[in-house]
Amino acid sequence: MRAPLLLILSAPSGAGKTTLARRILASEAGARLSVSTTTRPPRGEESDGRDYHFVDEARFQELIDAGEFLEWALVHGHRYGTSRTVVERALLEPDSLTIFDIDVQGGSAIKEQFPMAVTVFILPPSLAELEMRLRGRRTDSEEVIQLRLAAARSEILRGLAEYDYLVVNSMLEHAEADLHAIVRASGCRAELSREGLRELFGASRTPVTKRP
Ligand code: ADP
Ligand code: 5GP
Repeated sequence: MRAPLLLILSAPSGAGKTTLARRILASEAGARLSVSTTTRPPRGEESDGRDYHFVDEARFQELIDAGEFLEWALVHGHRYGTSRTVVERALLEPDSLTIFDIDVQGGSAIKEQFPMAVTVFILPPSLAELEMRLRGRRTDSEEVIQLRLAAARSEILRGLAEYDYLVVNSMLEHAEADLHAIVRASGCRAELSREGLRELFGASRTPVTKRP
């Protein structure tokens, strides 16, 4: 039995994080998304409660004041926050895999509070490809695209410096395979599985007798 896994995915906007997160959610047993709260309006096919909890500024402030967020950040002009309750519940469920689709500020804040969380930074193959993907998505105005591109370079530098794993999303299938490998390897990390296995084997804390 493995301890709950907190998997934090961050990337500059347009690198393919949402696409990859959806694939992992669909194919990893026990995986679920930590649904953030945001003041950004819904776009495209997004629905309330599935992609985000969409709220106005006043409600977001109420949630901050009530201590409901583990972390929150202003990203591209809108506020986004991670629910404390979601994480507290996840940590009570062995074998669960909770995926966070959040920015580098949020990822680093959660890692600080929960050092066992696994942080993965997803990179585009180049800045030119990032721009093409942002335009190809057809969900943002030119002004929003420019804002996101301007932020990309500093996010990338921070991700490169602070995250546990780096995945270049060039071929989608390869990047997905890398993420599965990270989940699999993280599940075997001794600090996550040691206690459950100790119980299973009825191991006492006395050291194993050494041969003479
Ligand atoms: P993010 O969540 O990081 O902002 P998205 O998942 O919305 O990014 O992806 C941005 C756009 O790039 C989408 O149109 C998506 O279909 C496309 N995309 C994602 N991964 C790849 C890839 N490996 N190759 C080409 N296009 C991709
Ligand atoms: P988008 O508007 O494209 O859905 O998200 C914009 C950025 O905000 C993305 O990098 C996304 O990962 C990040 N984000 C989403 N939810 C949260 C959150 O709860 N906290 C933080 N810090 N960032 C978030």
